[in-house]
Amino acid sequence: MTIYNLGSINIDKVLRVPHLPSPGETLAARSYAEGLGGKGANQSVAAARAGAQVVHLGAIGPDGGAMLDLLARDGVATDRIARLPVPTGMALIMVDDAAENTIAILAGANREIPQDGVTAALEGARRGDTLLLQNETGGQVAAAEQARSRGMRVVVSAAPFDMAALAPLLPLLSVLLLNEVEAAQLEQAAGRSLAALALPHVVVTRGARGATHLDGGTGESTTYPAFRVAPVDTTGAGDTFAGYLAAGLDQGLDWSRALPRAQAAAALSVTRAGAAASIPGAAETAEFLA
Ligand code: ATP
Repeated sequence: MTIYNLGSINIDKVLRVPHLPSPGETLAARSYAEGLGGKGANQSVAAARAGAQVVHLGAIGPDGGAMLDLLARDGVATDRIARLPVPTGMALIMVDDAAENTIAILAGANREIPQDGVTAALEGARRGDTLLLQNETGGQVAAAEQARSRGMRVVVSAAPFDMAALAPLLPLLSVLLLNEVEAAQLEQAAGRSLAALALPHVVVTRGARGATHLDGGTGESTTYPAFRVAPVDTTGAGDTFAGYLAAGLDQGLDWSRALPRAQAAAALSVTRAGAAASIPGAAETAEFLA
């Protein structure tokens, strides 16, 4: 089947600095690197490396061509990504010698994805295909409504958390992915426990403590332990998990196989630096699981 991912594409611009500058301070950076980022792009790469067929729905500006090349290199279909006369989304990142960082994000083209392009792309989707969403673009509700009417699975990663954006998606989603902080934010904003929200499936990731699957159909809650690794950089662990989980469900794995595989891929990703760059492939993940 196919995963349609309506998601952000950022140019990650990373300066390595000896320490994070104080207000008014100017300092010399040690190095500069540019890479593919954005929760959407990271999740597309993760799902593609997991072996899924992925169509990315999104937008870039004139400066984003290299990001499309990086997506395409992983086999992600990029022909539905709009080219707009506005800057590509970007994350300005400073990382110091203690691995502390500061990040500022410009949404840019990510918030101006033309709705008609998304609608047209989803018209080609089939029953059983997946729509994957995060909260770094616009247009999620219309896309989710269309996806449901076409019999698609709707997987929503609720990051960055915003109740106003999430609330209209709750009746439309098949699977909700949250980390522990987002789960607490949702319970507080809704004034109800996750279980009381009666969603079809909820997965709460708990970093090194694993992930919990709440099955709304059976009422069962199952916690899967995380794999023990020596963490180097946890950036992108959540996106690796989300992309791999969406891919596993798309490939017909049941939860007891899809969840451990997503956790194995996420564990491998925390053993190396970077976001998209740190996402393992399916063979490496299978070997780690064996
Ligand atoms: P991030 O924002 O850092 O990308 P997140 O907060 O969205 O991540 P987490 O709950 O921290 O998500 O992690 C997602 C999954 O990644 C976890 O369920 C776990 O499987 C794996 N993971 C994260 N940190 C570790 C770790 N230190 N050791 C092993 N696995 C980890």
